Amino acid sequence: MNPFRYERASDAASAVALLAQAPNGAFLGGGTNLVDHMKLGVAQPDLLVDVTRLPYDRIELLPDGVVRIGAAVRNSDLAADRTIRTRYPMLAQALLSGASGQLRNLATTGGNLLQRTRCVYFQDVSKPCNKRVPGSGCPAREGYHRNLAILGASEACIATHPSDMAVAMVALDAVVRVLGPNGERTIPLVGFHRLPGDEPQRDTVLEHGELITAVDLPRLPFAVRSYYRKVRDRASYAFALVSVAAALDVADGIVRDVRIAFGGVAHVPWRATKAEAVLRGAPAIEETFRQAADVELADARPLRNNAFKVPLARNVLVRTLLDLTEKEENR
Ligand SMILES: Cc1cc2nc3c(=O)[nH]c(=O)nc-3n(C[C@H](O)[C@H](O)[C@H](O)COP(=O)(O)OP(=O)(O)OC[C@H]3O[C@@H](n4cnc5c(N)ncnc54)[C@H](O)[C@@H]3O)c2cc1C
Ligand code: SF4
Repeated sequence: MNPFRYERASDAASAVALLAQAPNGAFLGGGTNLVDHMKLGVAQPDLLVDVTRLPYDRIELLPDGVVRIGAAVRNSDLAADRTIRTRYPMLAQALLSGASGQLRNLATTGGNLLQRTRCVYFQDVSKPCNKRVPGSGCPAREGYHRNLAILGASEACIATHPSDMAVAMVALDAVVRVLGPNGERTIPLVGFHRLPGDEPQRDTVLEHGELITAVDLPRLPFAVRSYYRKVRDRASYAFALVSVAAALDVADGIVRDVRIAFGGVAHVPWRATKAEAVLRGAPAIEETFRQAADVELADARPLRNNAFKVPLARNVLVRTLLDLTEKEENR
């Protein structure tokens, strides 16, 4: 591991100021991703600014019904929070499906959103990888890509975004609050992560030195009937091959409203807006659910060894919507 300086920020402004003067510096959350990358030589920051002691460790219900999650809130605490479990069950389920208890006790909300791809070539510094070393090539396209993207990939990169939490948050229209050298801004989570295009080294639209301070979840009453389903190679401690976060509002057999996002299929947590458009106002039946899935997945461009993800994503979505419909009927 390269030598680096460690600073513990006492307030957000000084954290941002410290990083503004360090082009190779990085914020440190729980360290469960960044420190692994430092050990592997994938990341070589010369300054770590620890932001876990900043006053962003609270989950607040604001007067307008928004739930504000501080960036330093640990994944375990977020999953256990009563407001989250009752208002947004799919978010608690997504968190609990990720990593392990020990990791979730350390991992923070901000760090979880910014965790990097698990593409094996990205993590192996002896291999080329456009994301790690721009212009060096993408061995995954011809090599091991079973876990990688079927939607929105580019010639340069076919990586997937690994976070479960982000999939549920994208479905919930979360908004990321950021403080940077030029002040505060808010960024809708749909659009926060980038498709790879010809700059796969950039995972998000954040600029260097911008600190995530919180994530806001807008009010979405029907999200009380929501579910996160994750399919993976092992029952625990494994990243998603495909996952679905869905919330469904059905009245008199018709879909009034719906939110859907896929995980494990793209460089971003994939909001399924096309499927949602098919479903709104349509009968809540298996046939419509299949049609919605097919419309969303029509743009899928799988490779040799990940074509199984297309029917898997379709089936996982249909099963999840059917389960939610049954729950609604049994209310
Ligand atoms: C064995 C293993 C299995 C795992 N399985 C899963 C899984 O199944 N599903 C899943 O979703 N995740 C999984 N994870 C990943 C885990 O969820 C992430 O490592 C964790 O969420 C990262 O959070 P952190 O606070 O530790 O981030 P860190 O490692 O501290 O930081 C990650 C990145 O975020 C940046 N950062 C941190 N905080 C901020 C902030 N406030 N503002 C701006 N930038 C910031 C850092 O600079 C760094 O670039 C697994 C990890 C391991 C090691
Ligand atoms: S898919 Fe992306 S992360 Fe993986 S080797 Fe190719 S460029 Fe690197």
